[in-house]
Amino acid sequence: MAGQSIENHLLVFRARWESYVAGGRFEQFVEFAVALNSLAEHFNRLRLPGLVRLSEGLENTTLAKLGDPDSHPIAPQDMVSLQRQVDTLLGSTSTLHPAVVERRGEKQPESVHEAEWIKRKPRLVWLIAHASKHDIAEALGQQLRFFGFSLTVLDWEQPLPEGTPPLAVLFFPASDSASEHEIACIAKVREACTSSQLFYLGVQTAIDAMVALIRAGIDIAVPATEQPAMMLNRILDLVQSGEREKYRVLVVEDSRVAVALIQRTLHENGIDSRAIGDPSTLLEVLESYRPDLILMDMYMPRFNGVEATRVLRQMSAYHSLPIVYLSGESDIGMQVKALRLGGDQFLSKPFNPVLLAAVVTTSISRYREVQRSSQIDGLTGLLNHTSAKSSLKSMVNQMPQHGKLVVVMLDIDFFKAVNDTYGHPVGDQVIRALAWLLKGRLRSSDLIGRYGGEEFLIALPQITLAQAHTVIDRIRTDFSALPHAHAGGALYVTFSAGMAAYSSAETAESLTKAADAALLNAKRLGRNCVEQAKSL
Ligand code: GH3
Ligand code: MG
Ligand code: MG
Ligand code: MG
Repeated sequence: MAGQSIENHLLVFRARWESYVAGGRFEQFVEFAVALNSLAEHFNRLRLPGLVRLSEGLENTTLAKLGDPDSHPIAPQDMVSLQRQVDTLLGSTSTLHPAVVERRGEKQPESVHEAEWIKRKPRLVWLIAHASKHDIAEALGQQLRFFGFSLTVLDWEQPLPEGTPPLAVLFFPASDSASEHEIACIAKVREACTSSQLFYLGVQTAIDAMVALIRAGIDIAVPATEQPAMMLNRILDLVQSGEREKYRVLVVEDSRVAVALIQRTLHENGIDSRAIGDPSTLLEVLESYRPDLILMDMYMPRFNGVEATRVLRQMSAYHSLPIVYLSGESDIGMQVKALRLGGDQFLSKPFNPVLLAAVVTTSISRYREVQRSSQIDGLTGLLNHTSAKSSLKSMVNQMPQHGKLVVVMLDIDFFKAVNDTYGHPVGDQVIRALAWLLKGRLRSSDLIGRYGGEEFLIALPQITLAQAHTVIDRIRTDFSALPHAHAGGALYVTFSAGMAAYSSAETAESLTKAADAALLNAKRLGRNCVEQAKSL
């Protein structure tokens, strides 16, 4: 289930393990492996690298025992060592940071209290730096504080603080390459903070140095040249990303038994699925269900899977949709031919559920990544003009009868002068800073797009115009106080905004137009202010 919580996954995982311990049958072991695989996938989805790592270790041990049904129950010493890994994994999940738990809050509350929204709970970040690097750490820390993080600066030698583990830990090495002592310290933090994201700043692009860091438990090694910009973006992404939309798989398969098995495996991995028994309704179902992948049987009545795939590959909408064949076919020549005619992969029946889940999730995550990159603005990571516009349109189309939605148009003041005085790169940095501030302050259900050069389109569902005004005006005040570095010091920039509220007479276009008119009004009134559209 989309909303299936981590607790749920853990319960299933524990129960499956216990029933294998009690029964010792191969089928029970397969069930346990499936539950483990789905738990690992869930950790991955929530970006909990330390837990992903732990579950991967356990998965490797498990998969090694999956090959031979006659080897079950496994030897007592293997059982003990598996039990130890299971215990470690379960133990580690109790250290999850509250902010991490909070960001997977699947639903936004019905009504939003302004105060709560503006004052988020502090998100803890540790900065670990040698005394000589404390000023660099502090400078970055200052920016992070501005975006609502709460920071602790520590020395590499210092014992780790007790209590809630941080959301992220940033390591600042003393020199260009990590010393043995630093590597040991990173490993210690990794062990203590399984669910935190570990960043290492100032890595050299040499493969052995990077491998050593990754082995010690670093999740992201940032090259010295990219530091501040990258860091902020990554950390904000970490807290911003809401639960992603559930993966959707269309199963085209005539055997009811096979369908039941496949759908069960997919369901256990949190993947939504739809099944059709023959390809004659394929095009209609694709149109309405919009799957991320098709599992296609090779042999069905009327048309076979290869023929159906060839039809889809003629249509531009389905050019790159992943198609995986399911077949009992063991003839290699036949398989090669099927792939040449448009399929992406082959899974043979009877399928291994763990392999099926892995093939499906990795193909979909790559496919989604490619889809996403065409909708995202490169400078800011926000939705680009086209996708912001179409997202707003679908938001408006799906508005319930008395639903609330506020559309905001926002434009930086006197931006030409920033470019002219300080140069284009400084201008770009100002645009990025505003994008981050918006990302950091707004909810994951809010739409934020880069509408033009220094113009942003925002849509805030489920709040009134007055509430939206408070939120945007607060961001306006904070942005005007944010220093932007340039060669000669710091500069300050402001923005103006116009907003309009949804009513049933509105369309996406009319709302945007009304917000734009209010923005023009704000500019006329002297800039650095937020104006509401005249009631319509
Ligand atoms: P106003 O207060 O009336 O909005 O004044 P303004 O100077 O901001 O006027 P306007 O919005 O018309 O100017 C936008 C400028 O933004 C023009 C363009 O050179 C600059 N710009 C657009 N895209 C980018 C970008 O990606 N990077 C940088 N650095 N500048 C950009
Ligand atoms: Mg068949
Ligand atoms: Mg402007
Ligand atoms: Mg403009």
